[in-house]
Amino acid sequence: MDIDDHAEELASALGVDKAEVKADLENLLQYSVPIEEAKQSVRRKHGGDSGSSRSAPSAKDVGTITTEDGNVTVTVRVLTVGTRSIQYQGDEQVIREGELADETGTISYTSWEDFGFEAGDSVTIGNAGVREWDGAPELNLGSSTTVAMASGTVETPYDDEIGGEAELAALEPGDRGRTVEARVVEVEERTINGRSGETDILSGVLGDASGRLPFTDWEPREGITEGASLRMEGVYVREFRGVPSVNLSEFTTVTPLSEAVPVRESAPQLSIREAVSSGGMFDVEIVGNVLEVRDGSGLIERCPECGRVVQNGQCRTHGDVDGEDDMRVKAILDDGSGTVTVVLDRDLTEEVYGGTMAEAREQAREAMDKEVVADHIRERVVGREYRVRGNLSVDDYGANLDADEFAESDDDPTTRAREVLDRIEDREVSA
Ligand SMILES: [Zn+2]
Repeated sequence: MDIDDHAEELASALGVDKAEVKADLENLLQYSVPIEEAKQSVRRKHGGDSGSSRSAPSAKDVGTITTEDGNVTVTVRVLTVGTRSIQYQGDEQVIREGELADETGTISYTSWEDFGFEAGDSVTIGNAGVREWDGAPELNLGSSTTVAMASGTVETPYDDEIGGEAELAALEPGDRGRTVEARVVEVEERTINGRSGETDILSGVLGDASGRLPFTDWEPREGITEGASLRMEGVYVREFRGVPSVNLSEFTTVTPLSEAVPVRESAPQLSIREAVSSGGMFDVEIVGNVLEVRDGSGLIERCPECGRVVQNGQCRTHGDVDGEDDMRVKAILDDGSGTVTVVLDRDLTEEVYGGTMAEAREQAREAMDKEVVADHIRERVVGREYRVRGNLSVDDYGANLDADEFAESDDDPTTRAREVLDRIEDREVSA
């Protein structure tokens, strides 16, 4: 159902003008109010009841809840409780969110009131609304919801998820109320235009034994410095540029650890099919053959305003611009399981070109054709096998790997031959 359908349904139920109802709904939705809450609020405004015309909620197993359910009652173990403040009808509102479980499954929840339950508690939640979130049902706990301690501990197969402790590699967008222990690998202070004007934030990279992920601290803390090993309780995970990103809110507690958290140095090596099906990875290594160097590689021009590639002096957004020279490669890499477009920045492109950008410009000037630079790169890389490490994002247009490292694979016959020779020499030395 889109907003028009919801407005239509409400308008006919309340006997008021659809345009008015729609305007009210749109106003609420722009503050991220869930649609069911928004509809109840509009019903109240127009003197309708607040949705209690639905049949009384029945007790359900978590695993059987679908987005078709109206309101439900569940008896569950609380796995995680995260706290976050959001904009609600123009005001800051603190919400709680996380995961609940019983024997049959897990379900995420958003609570608009503080019912005081904590991770590990066993509770009966009465009259929780069910809404759809990211294609899955989610419980919405509001003013008409009741929460009572359950008479005994609710047994679940998910007990090891209580408290939300997780390694970085296990985090997924949508996770809330998580606890991680990690080392700050990189951090920088940035000023952004937030919802309340200019705001200072910290952003960087966290690492642990399982991998690395980008992070943002929305409430810059002094203890978050490069090299610091920290326990962070109550973080949430969002998708940022196609990969999971760890977010620290004002409610996240950060405690320094006395022992340094070991950080995995190598990136996990996956097949292209595995990597792409994960939906995006911040730090991954793949090995494959370059099938093709795509158009738009070699010597390119970027818009000085927005950095987009300009064609014939035209930026799609800024029109006629004086383009700035840059170099890049967009190469299609294939490992037999799938393909991915590898994007090399200027430094890596100069490496595979075998010369500087000034030399590339000179070559293009002599040939009176920029394409000679791309052709030269093609001759050097197409058909060869490379080991690529970088940041994989996947969207509707395909999979892109922004490369940090791009090196001819160790499986290259000459490298292998050299390794064999080295080993023989070692043996002779030790003999
Ligand atoms: Zn532009």
